[in-house]
Amino acid sequence: MDPLKICLLSSEVTPFAKTGGLADVSAALAGALKSRGHQVLLFMPLYERVEKGDWKFDFVTELKGTKVSFGEREIEFEVFTTALPNSKQLVHMIHCPELYGRKEIYTQDKDEHLRFALLSRAALDCCQRLGFAPDVIHCNDWHTGLLPLYLKTVYAWDKLFEKTKTVMTIHNIAYQGMFPADVIPELGLSDGAKYFDQADRDDGLVNFLRTGLTFADKLTTVSATYAHEIQTAELGMGLEGLLQSRAADLSGIVNGVDYADWSPQKDKLIPHAFSPKDVSGKALNKRALLDYLRLPHDANVPVLGVVSRMTAQKGFDVMFDVLPRRLEEHDMRLTVLGSGEKKYEDFFRWLKREFPTKVGFETEFNDGLAHLIEAGADIFLMPSRYEPCGLNQMYSLKYGTIPIVRKTGGLADTVEQFDPATRKGTGFVFEHFMPSAFQWAFDFALETYADSDAWKQLMQNAMACDTSWDKQVLEYEKLYRSL
Ligand code: ADP
Repeated sequence: MDPLKICLLSSEVTPFAKTGGLADVSAALAGALKSRGHQVLLFMPLYERVEKGDWKFDFVTELKGTKVSFGEREIEFEVFTTALPNSKQLVHMIHCPELYGRKEIYTQDKDEHLRFALLSRAALDCCQRLGFAPDVIHCNDWHTGLLPLYLKTVYAWDKLFEKTKTVMTIHNIAYQGMFPADVIPELGLSDGAKYFDQADRDDGLVNFLRTGLTFADKLTTVSATYAHEIQTAELGMGLEGLLQSRAADLSGIVNGVDYADWSPQKDKLIPHAFSPKDVSGKALNKRALLDYLRLPHDANVPVLGVVSRMTAQKGFDVMFDVLPRRLEEHDMRLTVLGSGEKKYEDFFRWLKREFPTKVGFETEFNDGLAHLIEAGADIFLMPSRYEPCGLNQMYSLKYGTIPIVRKTGGLADTVEQFDPATRKGTGFVFEHFMPSAFQWAFDFALETYADSDAWKQLMQNAMACDTSWDKQVLEYEKLYRSL
C-alpha cells in the first residue's frame, strides 16, 4: 500500500520537552510511523529550554521568516529541525522567541492561547511552504485543538489540503485549554465567534479542546475504556454530550511503549540489565535503588515504587491512611519520585520523616531515577482516580514490577487481575476509589509477594506483556487509512 503523508503536532516531544506521557507518545508514534515507511512531519514549539539544550539544530531555509496574522497582530517564526534520538525522524521546531522564549513549557501568561494557536497555524503554513499535502493531520490535546477549524476556514481555499483529514486525540480530557471569550478576535479567524460553542461563549469562555473535537474528522483517545468513560458525566468533564453525539467517530487506541527506552534488556539508564530468562539483575537494581535513596537493603523486603505527577488524578488520597499503617506494621521500602500539589508532596515528605529507614522521596524531574524505580522496585502503585492510558503501569509490567492499579481507563485495559488459583494475571486491580479497596489490593500484593513461587510466575506473566509501538502503530495506520 502507498505510504501516507502524515502531519503530527504535539506540545511535548521526548526527550526535548516533557511533562507527562504525551511527550513519550508523540515521539514514539512519529518514529514508528516513519519506520513503517510513512512520511511524517512532526511539529512542536522550540521552547527556551530546548533551545538552550545540547541539541544540534538545522535551520530550514525554505521556511525562513514566515509570518502569520492573528487579528491585528503579525507573528513571525522560523523553523529548525533536529532528529529524534535513535531515529531518522525529524522534529520541526517552531522558533518564535516572542512566544516560546519563556522558562516554562506551559504558562499562565495572558497570551497562552496564542502560543498554541501559533503551533497549529505554523504547522499548516509549513505544509504550504514545503508543498506537503498531508493525508492526515493528527492533533494532540487542547494545544492543537484549533487546527481542524483553521483548516476548514483560513486554509479552506488551498487545494493542497483538499484531501486532508484530521484526527484529534485526547490524552487527558481534564485539560481543555479554556480562555476568556475576548481572545476570539486574536485568533485570526474572520467572524470567529460563530465557530465556538455558544454555551461556552455565554459563560464568557472559549474551549480549544471542544473546538478540536467539534471540527476534527475522527476522534481518538488512549484506551478503549477511557473512550467510554469520557462519554459519561462522571469523567467527561463537561464534554460528554459532544462526545456522545460523535460516538461513531470516537475510538480508543492504547498507547504503545518504546521498548528501546523502557525494557530491562535495553535500558541504558539502569545499572544492571535483565530479562525474563534471567531476572537476577533485578535484585542488583533493587540494591542500587535503595543505595541511591540511602535506604537499608534487605533482599527479602518488598520495595514499592511510585513515579508520578502529584495531582488529585493520580489517586494518592486512598493511600493517606493505609500507607502509614502498613509501613508501621510491615518491613518494606517505599520509593517515590514526583512533584506537584503541595498536599501530596507534604504527605510523602511526612512519611519520609516518620519512616526515615523505609521511605525515600525525591521531587525533581529525574529520568534516571524513574527508570531505576521501574527496574528496582517489586511493586508499583498507581491507584488513579482516572487514567486515560497510563504509561508507568506498562513500563512496570515489562520490568516485572507488579502494578497495583485501580480499574479505570487504560489501567483497566492493560493490567489483568492475578488469580492465585490459576496463577494467571499480571497485577492487582481494585475497583472502587476507596481506601478499603486500595488496602485490599495492597494486602493481596504483599501476601502474594510472600509466596515466592507465585511471585515468580506473576513476574513472568507481567514481563510477557507486549504493548510495543510496532503493534499499536498498526491501529493508527488503520484509522488513518479509514479516512
Ligand atoms: P501522565 O501523562 O498522566 O503524567 P503517564 O503514566 O502516562 O502519566 O506518564 C508519565 C510519564 O512521566 C512517565 O514516563 C513517567 O516516568 C514520567 N514522570 C513523571 N514524573 C516524573 C519525574 N518526577 N521524573 C521523571 N519522570 C517522571
